[in-house]
Parts: sequence; C-alpha cells; structure tokens
Amino acid sequence: MSPPTSDPGLADRVARLERDLQLLKNGVRLLGLCPCGNCGKYFQSSDAKALFDAGELVCRACLPEWWEGIEATMSIADRQALEHKLARWLVANYNAKIIRDAKKLPRAEMVTLKMVVACEQCNGTAKTETGAICRNCEGRGTVWVIELRPEFQ
Ligand SMILES: [Zn+2]
Ligand SMILES: [Zn+2]
Repeated sequence: MSPPTSDPGLADRVARLERDLQLLKNGVRLLGLCPCGNCGKYFQSSDAKALFDAGELVCRACLPEWWEGIEATMSIADRQALEHKLARWLVANYNAKIIRDAKKLPRAEMVTLKMVVACEQCNGTAKTETGAICRNCEGRGTVWVIELRPEFQ
C-alpha cells in the first residue's frame, strides 16, 4: 500500500484545507478572538476574565485541571511567579479571596476553586529576611486562594 501523500489529488486537497484553516484563523484573530490553549474554545481577547495568560492562554474552565498538570513540571521559581500572577488574576476577575488562616477557610461546598500558593511576602520560605516567622502566612509559607460560589460571595 502506498502512503497517502503519493496521491497528488489528496495532497492538493490537504494543502488547500490547511490554507483555508490558516485564513480562518487569521479572520478569527481579526475579530478579537483567541483560543484557549487547552480546550481550543475561542474567547474575546479583550475580556480580561476569559483567558489567563500563562505564556499560553487558558480559560477559566480549564484552569484547575491545567494547573494540576503543569504545576509539577515547573521549577519552584517559575511556579511561584505564575502562582502569584494567577492569584492576582483570580482576585481581580473572579472576586477570589486570599485566606491566610486555616480557621477561616470556607466549607468545601461553598468553594468553586481552592489553590495553595506560596506566600508572596516570604516567597514560600515562611521566614522574614531577619529569620523571624512570616506574619503574612503565620509561618506556613503558603496561603490559600479561594473562589466562592456566587451565592456565597
Ligand atoms: Zn479551555
Ligand atoms: Zn509568608
């Protein structure tokens, strides 16, 4: 059996499809739409809530799963930088809260998203520059980013 590319008609059709697809993608970009790098759905790029810019663009629906997959592959410094950016994005766009005290964590059924991120004050070391316990995270080195269900906000 010969490989499919030896059929010149087929190769032409594939080339034409690829060209059409590229034109379509260009057109979509002109409309101000950008795809999520994970699920491929298109969103208005002017809508700051729609896609998180992590080098690649990720939509809110994909975020928890995508983060779980990528978290372990990054260096600690890269991960912490991205964690802080992500936390700020969730706070700015989804009314997420930074919680520093385990006693103040809301019940699981009230929460749509819960992430543990390195404390921004001590960079996850749990200590201040002078070696004292970091007050921002109470010596844990991490804080929680919590997004509540709309009915609890
Ligand atoms: Zn997505
Ligand atoms: Zn801290």
